Amino acid sequence: MTEDLLAGLQAELDQRKQQGLLRRRRVLESAQSSHIQVDGREVLSFCSNDYLGLAQHPRLIAALQQGAASAGVGSGASHLITGHHHYHQQLEQALAAFVGLPAALLFSTGYMANFGVITALMGRNDAIFADKLNHASLNDAAVLSRARLYRYAHNDVAALKKLLQASQAPRKLVAVDAVFSMDGDLAPVPQLLALCEQYNAWLLLDDAHGFGVLGAQGRGVLHHFNVNSNRIIYMATLGKAAGVAGAFVAADAVLIDYLLQQARTYIYTTASPPALAASLLEALKIIEQEDERRAYLQALIATLKSGLKLQRWQLLDSATAIQPLMVGDNHSATQLSEYLLQQGILVPAIRPPTVPKGSARLRITLSAAHSVDDVQRLIAALNRAESRF
Ligand SMILES: *Cc1c(COP(=O)(O)O)cnc(C)c1O
Repeated sequence: MTEDLLAGLQAELDQRKQQGLLRRRRVLESAQSSHIQVDGREVLSFCSNDYLGLAQHPRLIAALQQGAASAGVGSGASHLITGHHHYHQQLEQALAAFVGLPAALLFSTGYMANFGVITALMGRNDAIFADKLNHASLNDAAVLSRARLYRYAHNDVAALKKLLQASQAPRKLVAVDAVFSMDGDLAPVPQLLALCEQYNAWLLLDDAHGFGVLGAQGRGVLHHFNVNSNRIIYMATLGKAAGVAGAFVAADAVLIDYLLQQARTYIYTTASPPALAASLLEALKIIEQEDERRAYLQALIATLKSGLKLQRWQLLDSATAIQPLMVGDNHSATQLSEYLLQQGILVPAIRPPTVPKGSARLRITLSAAHSVDDVQRLIAALNRAESRF
């Protein structure tokens, strides 16, 4: 009977609520920005991944409008049928050149890109080596690929080396977040690449939080570390710093050709609207040309770090726009988040299973859309909060 089925679900929901783990959505009533209207009130927000403040940039909006006027709204078909518009084609070429790899393939989301790559390349008998703090999309894809999944302690290169050494798998893939999404720290990419060379493994770098932000002109993590190799599979998302939506994979042309034949999340889905690609072409120009956005973002990061005078809670050691404030237990993190909201400041509490148990935190993200005053307001509120809790 449906009643039993629903009662089972309700019991699980109730349990989650008791544990302080119930997730809920807020309704955004303005454009994405630093000051937003949400659930009927104005708040100062520190939770978007719009690191460069491009999500409502007039040039991106204009490019989207013109793109829609010329290409229509829906793409109407998958890329392999008739959905592959010249805007998509142009964008793929521009993205590959921008990150310095031979070819690129667009996906509708980063989640789908990771799924497409991992399930296309890896199968039974193969082995995937993954950092414990990787994004869920990498883990889910690894499980679905049916390859053996080895998870090693965060950024523990020695542990990874042992695992690679012991592996007899015919195909090996090391997959990591280049910038860890909940901690903001970087993967040791040069060391990972050296290990991949030594043990003949692919290296999949998920640069969702580095593209547009790291490296000269925002070219991403490869440029930050000055590395390149035809065993690197570079994935970046286009809904964060790039301000629009979607993702791409860039790599050797043979690998990209292979994905075009094999990546199921590329083949069996409708192409994203071409106007998004038109808007992204404009975003790419701004990312490339406006170094001042990145310099300003770095200045805001420095302001936050030097302004916080906290004893109990500490910022994790991060040089990126992701500045997590470690709190620990779920309820305290939620309470702190609610306290800030009373002051009109929105910083969400991130709880398990998104982060490991006992490491609930406030995930503060800074953006070039913030003013120095915005950041000062957050600093003052947090400094006040600690003495009250
Ligand atoms: C956001 C994110 C993704 C997923 O990208 P979407 O385009 O939002 O689906 C993948 N990996 C990491 C590390 C991310 O932070």
